[in-house]
Amino acid sequence: MIDERDLRTADPKIADVLAAERARQNDGLELIASENFVSRAILEATGSVLTNKYAEGYPGRRYYGGCEHVDVAERLAIQRALKLFGAEHANVQAHSGSQANMAVYFAVLAPGDTLMGMDLAAGGHLTHGHPLSYSGRDFQVVAYGVDRGTERLDYAEVARIAARHRPKLIVCGASAYSRTIDFARFREIADDCGALLMADMAHIAGLVAAGVHPSPVPHCQFVTTTTHKTLRGPRGGLILCAKEHAKAIDRAVFPGLQGGPLMHVIAAKAVALREARSPAFARYQRQIVANAAHLADALTRRGQRIVSGGTDNHLLLVDVAAAGHTGRLAEAALERAGITVNKNTIPYDAHPPMVASGIRLGTAAVTTRGMRQPEMERVAEAIAGVLAAPESEQALAAIRGAVRELCREFPLFAA
Ligand code: PLP
Repeated sequence: MIDERDLRTADPKIADVLAAERARQNDGLELIASENFVSRAILEATGSVLTNKYAEGYPGRRYYGGCEHVDVAERLAIQRALKLFGAEHANVQAHSGSQANMAVYFAVLAPGDTLMGMDLAAGGHLTHGHPLSYSGRDFQVVAYGVDRGTERLDYAEVARIAARHRPKLIVCGASAYSRTIDFARFREIADDCGALLMADMAHIAGLVAAGVHPSPVPHCQFVTTTTHKTLRGPRGGLILCAKEHAKAIDRAVFPGLQGGPLMHVIAAKAVALREARSPAFARYQRQIVANAAHLADALTRRGQRIVSGGTDNHLLLVDVAAAGHTGRLAEAALERAGITVNKNTIPYDAHPPMVASGIRLGTAAVTTRGMRQPEMERVAEAIAGVLAAPESEQALAAIRGAVRELCREFPLFAA
């Protein structure tokens, strides 16, 4: 028989960690743009007996016996992903967004091939070709950025770079870009230089599912995403692709990159993909975007400079250097006031990433708590208060009190 003791009895130290983290999530303002809070149903699937099961292979063709039930879960996850995003093929096994991207690269690129992606410093992700990531080691990387004046993608410049370097694969999508991405335009650019096109929609997948951001699926041979950001599922990756690439993608994930799939996570992905089809989810996504727009406006009214002048999606970048701070200082001061953000470089940043001139704010998590525009006004007031006096312990303590009060009005968990 298994050890039936609960966590508190079996391992009090780890139980303490869970309790402390639960309290931190409940009592603080979570503005990290890549985070969210999953439903109880998703937590239940993630912490389930499916964690015990090996299931190398794919539904109906596994290398292990006893897969009849996990096959049902994986088939449901696949079907729901296809329906939600209107794709031809889905692989739900990638353990993370990074591995989803790696699978596409390994499926279509050979070492030495040219990969073109958005520069990390301009808002791209490490896995889009940064030298410290696998993606920058095996491939010739060409990067594109944003226009210095508008701080937005300059598609004519992207086209010029693509024509000059003729990459085999172009990656669009970002981690810190607050404007709508024109996937159709990227497809024209890719077609013109004979490249394949991959969109990494990790940040905006929930918006895409709800029709709040244009979908990359009709325009790209490959679409990758994480499942845990605006999509509000368990931590993990997902790959969508055209049918002609299905075999190559599946082979790249298993046996190419991974062994046994995480069946408990795949079941939780299925739950999330079902939740994402509901009208309530579409309303939620619209509110995320409305909240981000309101937060950008409220911060602007309080004298902050928002990169590119605002936002079209769930995130915004605040240029704290404009007020004489670094992102590192701002992140630490906000943390002391109960507001969690991450420092982030801004386009053409004078500081390295560990210092940075900006902070990145996202509204997916606070919107899950039920916060709306009036609360974004209070959030902006708190942030502006911290940035006005980041070294004043007295001011930070007062703002911490206001933040706690706001959070208590919008509890995350039932008592
Ligand atoms: N792609 C983008 C655009 C991301 O923002 C991230 C993570 O923040 C990833 C990929 C990587 O996802 P993971 O952390 O699951 O590897």
